[in-house]
Amino acid sequence: MSITFASKLATIPGYSAGVPKGKAPEAIVGEGIAQLASNESPWGPHPAVSEAIARAASASNRYPDPAATLLRRRIAERHERSPADVVVANGSCEILLAAALALCEPGAELVYAWPSFSIYPYLAPLSGAREIRVALTDDHRHDLDAMLAELTAATQLLIVCNPNNPTATHIPAARIAELCARVPDHVTVIVDEAYVEFQLNDDPDATVDLLGDFPNLVLLRTFSKVYGLAGLRVGYALGSPAFREAVDAVRQPFSVNAVAQAGAAEALRHQDDVAGRVERTIIERVNVEAGVRELGLSTPDSHANFSWVDLGDRDEAEIVAELGEQGIVVRAGAALGGPGYIRVTYGTGEQNRRFLAALEAAL
Ligand SMILES: *Cc1c(COP(=O)(O)O)cnc(C)c1O
Repeated sequence: MSITFASKLATIPGYSAGVPKGKAPEAIVGEGIAQLASNESPWGPHPAVSEAIARAASASNRYPDPAATLLRRRIAERHERSPADVVVANGSCEILLAAALALCEPGAELVYAWPSFSIYPYLAPLSGAREIRVALTDDHRHDLDAMLAELTAATQLLIVCNPNNPTATHIPAARIAELCARVPDHVTVIVDEAYVEFQLNDDPDATVDLLGDFPNLVLLRTFSKVYGLAGLRVGYALGSPAFREAVDAVRQPFSVNAVAQAGAAEALRHQDDVAGRVERTIIERVNVEAGVRELGLSTPDSHANFSWVDLGDRDEAEIVAELGEQGIVVRAGAALGGPGYIRVTYGTGEQNRRFLAALEAAL
């Protein structure tokens, strides 16, 4: 006897975390290792968030609130929306997967840019939809006109990652508004804004103002990046009550655990801390971009907490391995759709100086 798997299983890409070959996951957070591969925050949670997490942990005998009432209310207040428009999930990745299941069936089409976030390639095989990947422009931006040209009567989902992972480029909200105005009503537009707090083109809530005009628009946000809570797994979407109900219909009821709900709800109360994290990140961004360019490498202006570094003709696997020898973990571009590049997350000032020194040595 053996297990007979669904044929779609063979088409699901599989996720490789930023762990160097042959190393246990513990090794990447060990003493002296600069983990710059997963776009996490180098700074731990606010102390009040850690306290809220500890308090919630001590009540772990109870199931969580399936409606995540407090968390959804605080998110709604933060963005001046109704809680009915707010979906919370076990990371914003869960919302992407649920949206594909709820919106797409065999024969449907979904459109996204490439290179972009490594979760998007899961959506077509899981839902049976057909995916259309639209190449970024030569300057690493979404080609919105080319994406619009791919929309058909069968298109269910158009995903725009903004700022884009892994290239760190950003499309201003005014361009997103133009895009929405040109997208037919039957297409749902998901703008994945995991890094929106780090861009300086717009007020981070400029796109939130578009929700009133475009009922087929959904914005994705996360606690994994600027809030420094990647380990808790909480993300959210701002959209419509209909979108929230659809996501809720296709996933398990208790997807956001009680500890995560408590930590995220507390984190929302410390926006001064969030602003400080953004400031510190931007200081590191200026330093890393300048340092990389001084080494003669080019990198698109980053609007996120990481840089996409063009290594020219160099062998990217070799550079990644040499950085690894120095205790610097970065992500090789090949796995992200960009051979010849590395993606490096900004760490602490000390980690970034070590990264630049190790990169210089590796070159
Ligand atoms: C990190 C990231 C997310 C966040 O995913 P979570 O599941 O919320 O941790 C979402 N979108 C993009 C583009 C990302 O890079």
